[in-house]
Amino acid sequence: MTGFDTASEIAARVRDGSTSATAVVEQHLERIADGDGEIHAFNTVTADLAREQAAAVDEIVAAGGEPGPLAGVPIALKDNMCTRGVPTTCSSRILEGWVPPYDGTLVDTLRRAGAVLVGKTNLDEFAMGSSTENSAFGPTRNPLDTSRVPGGSSGGSSAAVAAGFAALSFGSDTGGSIRQPAALCGVVGVKPTYGRVSRYGLIAFASSLDQIGPFAHSVADAALALQTVCGHDPHDSTSIPEPLPDYAALLGEGVEGLRVGRITDLPEGADPDVDERLEQAFDALRAAGATIVDVAVPAFGYGLTAYYLIAPAEASSNLARYDGVRYGLRVDATNTDAMYMATRAAGFGDEVKRRVLLGTYALSAGYYDAYYGKALKIRRLMAQDFARAYERADVLLTPSSPSVAFPFGSKTADPFAMYLCDTYTIPANLTGDPGMSVPFGTGADDLPVGVQVLAPALGEPVMLQVAAELERAAGGRS
Ligand code: GLN
Repeated sequence: MTGFDTASEIAARVRDGSTSATAVVEQHLERIADGDGEIHAFNTVTADLAREQAAAVDEIVAAGGEPGPLAGVPIALKDNMCTRGVPTTCSSRILEGWVPPYDGTLVDTLRRAGAVLVGKTNLDEFAMGSSTENSAFGPTRNPLDTSRVPGGSSGGSSAAVAAGFAALSFGSDTGGSIRQPAALCGVVGVKPTYGRVSRYGLIAFASSLDQIGPFAHSVADAALALQTVCGHDPHDSTSIPEPLPDYAALLGEGVEGLRVGRITDLPEGADPDVDERLEQAFDALRAAGATIVDVAVPAFGYGLTAYYLIAPAEASSNLARYDGVRYGLRVDATNTDAMYMATRAAGFGDEVKRRVLLGTYALSAGYYDAYYGKALKIRRLMAQDFARAYERADVLLTPSSPSVAFPFGSKTADPFAMYLCDTYTIPANLTGDPGMSVPFGTGADDLPVGVQVLAPALGEPVMLQVAAELERAAGGRS
């Protein structure tokens, strides 16, 4: 429970004229001016653009026009989404100073929906990380405890909502980068089904896993956001051409008669406070009329290993384009090869280099079958295991993150410790199924715990339905 106005409330008031988009945006810009020096949720604050967009919304309302479903809602976008005329850095030196010549589909859609862009948010460089400590521009602080990380890689987006800088924000989730920071900042975060939100204009990390989704104050706001940004886009060949359901339709329905799966062979490693909350989440759903069923997902525990071959493999290819010729940074040298090397050596941080090395190795002749090929087999097994589980359960519950927000520096010395943050989130990226994190009480040091709700492909409505019940049970809004 964040206590700030929800996007749904803001849009309703802007539409009926009881407030103006301009007043709303000024309130949010003031909070940013007061608080972001400490939090560092933003790489760029787009105050002028926000005021312009808010004024345009107010004009439409004044003229009796249709201002859109997100009329006057201040939004923040992860800084790996292309915004025309606004720097887009991926929190990397290699893209510092690059200004995209076009808007991504998401950006376009949000503007047409009446949303007001307040800024571009910090992330782990190229979305590689779980704490936002890998940003080349310094970490983001968790608004709930500034000695701790906000999670990552979309830590700036989760912090922006948790701090009341934006009523809604968007991140990308390749292995957990929406759900884990949502959990650590006490907000709702959704990774939709792969292909539901266009990736056109999202700077690629691992193209077969990347998916855009919202951070929100409430499950209802998340449903509103999905309703607005999901849908087919001819600019993205992996975009799903199915019509959209009504994402809010089941929010008030409760969970009577639903089958909620408990994964019996879930990898261990969650802290006791997190496990306890997960148990309470099952109890709450049982009390509300759901049936808890045991299911096995034997491949679950291999997800992390498969991901750390597939994601770096795709990243090593996607990041080949940063060569000093086409984008951002160039470090001059005596010949072209030396220029490439000097640019990439200076422009990429350690984690990005580690991923490029891992990925190049996994794809190299002689190792391709042993590593990359095997990882693809696990991916297939994972999909089969989940499909079988969803024959017996409508949704599955797991922790979103093994722990609450952790202190700065506590995992930076050991990349593997950081990778373990995504144990529970990665499988849904490998299968392409949707998953979300919903705040469910607090754990150690009174910090929020997130419960992950997983559903089969295109199962967002039932996933949101269950999340809404958990939100109600936790005393939040629905
Ligand atoms: N933390 C994971 C990684 O470092 C996932 C990142 C993401 O989802 N973008 O790769």
